[in-house]
Amino acid sequence: MKVLVINCGSSSLKYQLFDMADERCMAKGNVERVGSPDAFIVHRPEGSDKITFNVEARDHEQALKHVFAALTDSTHGVISDLGQVSAIGHRVVHAGEKYAGSVLITDEVMAALNECQDLAPLHNPPNIMGVVACRRLMPDLPMVGVFDTAFHQTMPREAYMYALPYEMYTKYGLRRYGFHGTSHRYVSARAAHVLGKKPQDVCVVTCHLGNGSSLAAVKHGVSIDTTMGFTPLEGVPMGTRSGDLDPAIVSFLCEKLDKSATEVVQGFLNKKSGVLGLSGGLSNDFRDLEQAAVDGNDLAKLALDVFAYKTAKYIGAYAVAMGALDAIVFTAGIGENSPEMRQRICDRLGLFRVELDPARNAMRGVEQVISTPNSGVAVLCVPTNEEITIARDTVQIVESGVAAL
Ligand code: AMP
Repeated sequence: MKVLVINCGSSSLKYQLFDMADERCMAKGNVERVGSPDAFIVHRPEGSDKITFNVEARDHEQALKHVFAALTDSTHGVISDLGQVSAIGHRVVHAGEKYAGSVLITDEVMAALNECQDLAPLHNPPNIMGVVACRRLMPDLPMVGVFDTAFHQTMPREAYMYALPYEMYTKYGLRRYGFHGTSHRYVSARAAHVLGKKPQDVCVVTCHLGNGSSLAAVKHGVSIDTTMGFTPLEGVPMGTRSGDLDPAIVSFLCEKLDKSATEVVQGFLNKKSGVLGLSGGLSNDFRDLEQAAVDGNDLAKLALDVFAYKTAKYIGAYAVAMGALDAIVFTAGIGENSPEMRQRICDRLGLFRVELDPARNAMRGVEQVISTPNSGVAVLCVPTNEEITIARDTVQIVESGVAAL
């Protein structure tokens, strides 16, 4: 079975085509600057160099047509016609409380997702546009929605409720949802596998540290807490997002900067804060900050220290939440590629007698245990793979749907 995985952002469309017989990625790519006159597609067939060319992509539907054309092209395509694709898996950020797992997309599911638009105004509309475009172009193809929030639907209510008047929850759905669920699910399962254990036998803290960062407490295979909340702004500081702060800061900044609350949250807390803000505007990229810190830049060091401190603090908190801590897993851009940041975080975990193996920790992007045999807690690097998780869910749901008919 061949499965196409689609991930639509506001001005981008990423895709991967898998042959699920051996889970091989046959081709992948992305259309960038969708909606602007200088849109382009980057297409990489398996085992070949990537090719880039300009395309006309006024909207996601036009972008998709270019993806379909690239996949079936006589020179750089990987399938002869689209009939070979059996299903499409879509990444969708927010499913509210409606779905705790992936689902076959039907009209009813579309209606439920449209109801969630309010909860993720930046992310869900483009995700849904991608689904709508695919359904229009390939109406007979089964499609599956895989949600970032779904894995965290198992959080107990003491973890997901904010201490606000209860009716804010019942009226507006104001609660903690969590994100990056597909990644936390994948890497926690891989970590158990690498340790030779079953997911239900381990308590793991997964650290998805990238431009957006979140941690999850995964107890016996189930998420019981996570750092992102109602939106992806909560939790540890990120590339440009503040993470946790005193909510009174919003009204204080509205007055000082003469801006509306929306402007402060969108323009300031989402885009100018985090390690970019802490470093005095130097960079949101940890490679730049690590180099600047080595060169003696004190604000770069401050940004890295705040990030490491808050991350380690949450690891400690989640050990308490789970009542045990068997493993810490690092994933995503920083987690997979920055031995320096992994070390900075683990240096703060002396209470758990965490000890990294310097040679193993020096490696980037390799799935392995990076702690010593004497370490009080196993530490692992696990490259995330949200796309294969989406493709697997798609196969499982489509095949069980067929079997049920
Ligand atoms: P992601 O959002 O998961 O793609 O992560 C992107 C971020 O990972 C970048 O903004 C960098 O901060 C970080 N990153 C990527 N490669 C490295 C590296 N070699 N060392 C440190 N940070 C890295």
